[in-house]
Amino acid sequence: MTQALDLVPADAERVLGEWLAARGEPRYRTGQLVPRLWQRPVRRWADATELPKALREALDAEWPLGALTLDVRQESADGTVKYLWRLPDGQAVESVLIPEGTRRTLCISSQAGCPLRCAFCATGTMGLLRNLEAWEIAGQVRELLLTPEPTPPTNVVFMGMGEPLLNWPAVSTALTLLNDPAALGVGARHITVSTVGILPGLAELAKRREQFRLALSLHAPTSLTRRALMPIEKKYPLRDVMAALRAFPRRVTFEYVMIAEMNDRDEDLEALAKLAKEAGAMVNLLPLHPGGGSALQPTAASRMRAFRADLQARGVEAVLRRSRGLDIDAACGQLRIARGDRRPRGEVAAETHGHVHEARRVRQHARASHS
Ligand code: SAH
Repeated sequence: MTQALDLVPADAERVLGEWLAARGEPRYRTGQLVPRLWQRPVRRWADATELPKALREALDAEWPLGALTLDVRQESADGTVKYLWRLPDGQAVESVLIPEGTRRTLCISSQAGCPLRCAFCATGTMGLLRNLEAWEIAGQVRELLLTPEPTPPTNVVFMGMGEPLLNWPAVSTALTLLNDPAALGVGARHITVSTVGILPGLAELAKRREQFRLALSLHAPTSLTRRALMPIEKKYPLRDVMAALRAFPRRVTFEYVMIAEMNDRDEDLEALAKLAKEAGAMVNLLPLHPGGGSALQPTAASRMRAFRADLQARGVEAVLRRSRGLDIDAACGQLRIARGDRRPRGEVAAETHGHVHEARRVRQHARASHS
């Protein structure tokens, strides 16, 4: 059965319009149904009391609206709110709402789990469980509109669980649902797709005419260090990703999680500045979130400030991001780990440790072969 929430507004109008016509309903009803999907959402058709009761019953029987069930809601002392959603098949994903001044940024998931296994990321330890459907992605915003005190986000970032560009068809539809004024109506420049640099997906995103923003999770300025932190580097090497960014029609942001002795040395700074200039990118420096079993150490705050100042002195726009929601484990995938949903912490820690040793080994090798 088609899920009406998987249809972009233009398609929903056509498909529901045909269904209504077949039932002998007047034409204007289509214009009553479509806004109830996203614009003024209802949890079930029964709640759309402006419609005749018989029609509502038929809609709930033939076009049941998909829903995410709120499993856990945690609010941090700093106002960050983390939601763990249960999907219809029992899988779980999370979103994080980050209030900052007048902005309310919602960080959403595109996959349950993630296949990429980046060394510092908790989600990666789960592996990929499954792709989300378009309605489950945009549904993370929809559910916020259905809470007793609706909290529409001003910005949406694909920085929750999963790699959005490995789930492109659903993410592409979700982008339309987020942006279309007949759906959620979030401005394209307020929607950011964050990726490790999946080349076919980048090509697809580049074709979209809307001004969606792109963030590249760079995290290392050389292929060698990047390979130690992010296994995807073997498949889509930095050089090729950089070429794709130069061809990208809009300005990009580099995400750079700062890890002590791994990517925060002077030579890293120099290489990072060079890449940022080449891509015309601005740089977000992020403190490494502890937890999730990672044995990697965060860079000291003083070093992060110096790193930022040095980047700016080299003409690169750089911003220091604060850690938010630390007390509620609000980094990528951590809530689910903390609840013991998948594997025990010990096992996760052991595996991440493996990554770290591999990273150090590769780095030592790199130094040895340079000298
Ligand atoms: N797969 C996509 C989107 C999900 S991750 C991507 O990699 O961009 C979103 C961001 O959270 C990425 O920049 C990722 O590197 C970052 N992240 C993951 N684990 C983190 C941690 N332990 N501390 C800080 N940032 C982390």
